Amino acid sequence: MPAARVGSTKVGIYACGITPYDATHVGHAATYVAVDLLQRALRDQGLTVRYASCVTDVDDPLLERAAGTGVDWRELAAEQTALFGADMAALAVIPPDVYSGVVETIPATVDAVQRMLADGSAYRVPLEPGAGGATPELGDVYADLSGDGGFGNVSHLSEAEMLALFAERGGDPARPGKLNPLDPLLWRRERSGEPHWEAGSLGAGRPGWHIECAVIARTALGKDFDILAGGSDLLFPHHEMSGSHLRALAGGAAAPRIQVHSGMVGLDGEKMSKSRGNLVFVSTLRADGVDPMAIRVAMLAHHYRSDWEWSDAELRDAVARIEHWRAALSGAVAPPPDDAVAEIRSALADDLDSPRAIRAMDEWAARTLAGPKHDEEWPEGEPGVMARTVDALLGIRI
Ligand code: ZN
Repeated sequence: MPAARVGSTKVGIYACGITPYDATHVGHAATYVAVDLLQRALRDQGLTVRYASCVTDVDDPLLERAAGTGVDWRELAAEQTALFGADMAALAVIPPDVYSGVVETIPATVDAVQRMLADGSAYRVPLEPGAGGATPELGDVYADLSGDGGFGNVSHLSEAEMLALFAERGGDPARPGKLNPLDPLLWRRERSGEPHWEAGSLGAGRPGWHIECAVIARTALGKDFDILAGGSDLLFPHHEMSGSHLRALAGGAAAPRIQVHSGMVGLDGEKMSKSRGNLVFVSTLRADGVDPMAIRVAMLAHHYRSDWEWSDAELRDAVARIEHWRAALSGAVAPPPDDAVAEIRSALADDLDSPRAIRAMDEWAARTLAGPKHDEEWPEGEPGVMARTVDALLGIRI
């Protein structure tokens, strides 16, 4: 687990948020549960955590879904953001201290892109005919990655690998007029039928994906915050590009100090993703009467960095585990919990080893249910200590 900056008792965490065009699937929720576990472990060490996240409330997939279903994109975004919040509350995820939307951040983003243009870390790219409203000559704006010596230091990919992932995950390597195929979009000028905002010298348009997170994180946490978190599919290009923008905006060395990436959750042998359509939604499970704590326990049974597969068997195991814990916690007496609490803390301090932490709880529960040995005397009240421990450290409310 990342340690605090030397001499500081404050930790800033930024986790990339959702694009609110569909309900929260289990894979996505697992990322926020991992960030939540990190936050709880840091708080338990006596650190003050400031957690920021975002909602990408204007983006291509959202606009496409809205157009395809005949719903206003703003209504779709508001509705799905509210559902996401309800899912997170049910999963006992501590809410961010700062939760910003892309739309509300547009003035700060415009300012950032203007600064990058002024200092030469961004450039304009000519538009196709018909784009750009009354000022097509202003063009779209792209970041110039050539001046960033730190680019690629997080993902360590070859150029061919970067190009393939960039094309697959929202990039436009074939866009004519770019200096480098990998250069990412900062500002997209207005196109027919697309929402756009006035932006002074940039010309009306909307922000690119990576600059949004860089600006929201920097605004909420300062230029050298500690931890940037998200699913492993955000490592490239999103986090590499956002990190590059943060350096450009800081004029060189800048955060994030550490990047944390959670594994992918699969279903039937494939990664669970919106584009594949093989999704298990948290809201659907809740509507079917599944205990959200069982969903959370199923996630914690896997180390946050590992890829794993969701299944009915995983859920059944989690439900059985909670019943076992509940039976142990409902008694008046239990063995002294000090060793179990220490083991849970030690597991979390070891790169958030949640499977080891829940095994410690399993063992304590088994010992409790077995009852005291003939020469043992167990004090009253100990089950309450363990209930508060799993609530505080693991976010499991029994
Ligand atoms: Zn992001």
